[in-house]
Amino acid sequence: MAKFSLQPTDILKSINYTPPRTGWMDTPVNFAPGNWCYPTKPEKLEYLGFPNPRIWLPSDADWKLPPNWQDIVHEGFRDRLKKYRSLQIFMDVCVRCGACADKCHFFIGSGDPRNMPVLRAELMRSIYRKDFTLAGKIMGKLAGARVMTEDVIKEWFIYFYQCSECRRCSLFCPYGIDTAEITMMARELLHLLGIGINWAMDPVANCDRTGNHMGIQPHAFKGIVDFMLDEIEVVTGKRIKAPLNEKGHEVVFITPSGDVFADPGTYTFMGYLMLFDAIGLDYTLSTYASEGGNFGLFTNSQIMKKLNAKMYAEAKRLGVKWILGGECGHMWRVINQYMDTMNGPADFLQVPKSPITGTVFHTAKQTKMVHITEFTSDLIRHGKLKIDKSRNQHLRVTFHDSCNPARAMGLLEEPRYVIKNVVDQYFEMPENTIREQTFCCGGGSGLNTDEIMEIRLRGGLPRGNALRYVQEKHRVNTMACICAIDRATLIPLADYWAPGVQITGIHEMVANALILDGEGKRTMNLRQENFEELREAAAAEEEGE
Ligand code: SF4
Ligand code: SF4
Repeated sequence: MAKFSLQPTDILKSINYTPPRTGWMDTPVNFAPGNWCYPTKPEKLEYLGFPNPRIWLPSDADWKLPPNWQDIVHEGFRDRLKKYRSLQIFMDVCVRCGACADKCHFFIGSGDPRNMPVLRAELMRSIYRKDFTLAGKIMGKLAGARVMTEDVIKEWFIYFYQCSECRRCSLFCPYGIDTAEITMMARELLHLLGIGINWAMDPVANCDRTGNHMGIQPHAFKGIVDFMLDEIEVVTGKRIKAPLNEKGHEVVFITPSGDVFADPGTYTFMGYLMLFDAIGLDYTLSTYASEGGNFGLFTNSQIMKKLNAKMYAEAKRLGVKWILGGECGHMWRVINQYMDTMNGPADFLQVPKSPITGTVFHTAKQTKMVHITEFTSDLIRHGKLKIDKSRNQHLRVTFHDSCNPARAMGLLEEPRYVIKNVVDQYFEMPENTIREQTFCCGGGSGLNTDEIMEIRLRGGLPRGNALRYVQEKHRVNTMACICAIDRATLIPLADYWAPGVQITGIHEMVANALILDGEGKRTMNLRQENFEELREAAAAEEEGE
């Protein structure tokens, strides 16, 4: 975890929900370092063909905006109002009922009114009123309108990068106003001026160049997969295969590169490979489609479309029948909500049908892409996996619903079904923090960067609090999730708010319990921890209670 000295009690004491005495338009923005992310490096903007590459810092007085920046924003706003009916509606229909106000994890953890979803949207709506409505033009502030200034741009930069596009607020809005989409539009407008954050744009540039956020070249990707096969052999005594770039298989498997690159995602990746071996799946991996994630979602719709296009292009080139996708969050928002209309229809693919059980995945009829937990839960339901749950006996597990699979896909039961079939001890966090109402990890939408660690930990408070609750009540020691970003962001979150809880992907637990044909005696899990020692430690902890 990054160097960070503020204690949890300090954060809790500092949260003040009392509204400021002044109205929000007259209350200055806190511009302290730690409140903003580092801007995109000029070479990344140049590479991607984005405007206004330059060196600057948010703390600078002069952000070096183009001379006609107001016209650029105005025209960009006008274009998007014409193009996206949802934006026009979201700008017009809010009745300021406040139902969303206390639903955002960043507001709960900071007490900052600008982190109320209604006020976050108002930062943009106030400009909309001034520029595009008669009432706003005539009555100005009385109608909630204000003039676009450089200070507004600075305010947008801070607060639209303190929204993780989790969409929890939209769940509570009687009109379904989706503040995440407002944030997406604001970020698009900021990008017209060359304003973005490096932690999101660096992966975008990598992905544009190599096909994945990490910038992994094909030969390195193959090297990593070979290394994982070695590790699996160490653990299971069995050498399995992982076909790469092979034509003519039934399925291409695509997962976020976070699973390939960083622990604990790597264990989940090994889990996929072991699962496919266990069922004899006719599949291939791809070094071209070596990324399921898509930081274009956090940048603009053109980049999102471009980065997504490789999935269908590679499926076509390889001649597969359908696509299977790994555990990821925002990847599935792009696939489920945008891919078919952006880059489809993929008529050259078939409606996915499990070659093992014969189940047709009608939910994937449009996209032709199936989520791995739907696929695995179907295998379990048909009794196709040999499972030894005792290998996970030391685990006391809860499940963090990642925002996008939960709210954008309704993928609520399948992950739970899989977990309950590979571990014995499962506990839910409180009802208003899970399923559709799940709380964000605090680092989604490109915010998983260390310079805003305090903001992330404040945003992670509701999730951390719920985790702490099941840790204290049920001695939960493991939180599972199905998102590569979560697997990275939840580690510092758990260390901070509920120390002692480890983070895992579901297919890591599946693989640990999975019995492979021809395997040796399994004495350790994929992290190469000895099962016997883990069980003894768990028993000792129970006795010490
Ligand atoms: S989308 Fe999530 S982070 Fe953004 S305002 Fe709504 S609740 Fe907050
Ligand atoms: S819940 Fe919807 S209508 Fe009510 S304040 Fe929030 S965005 Fe506006």
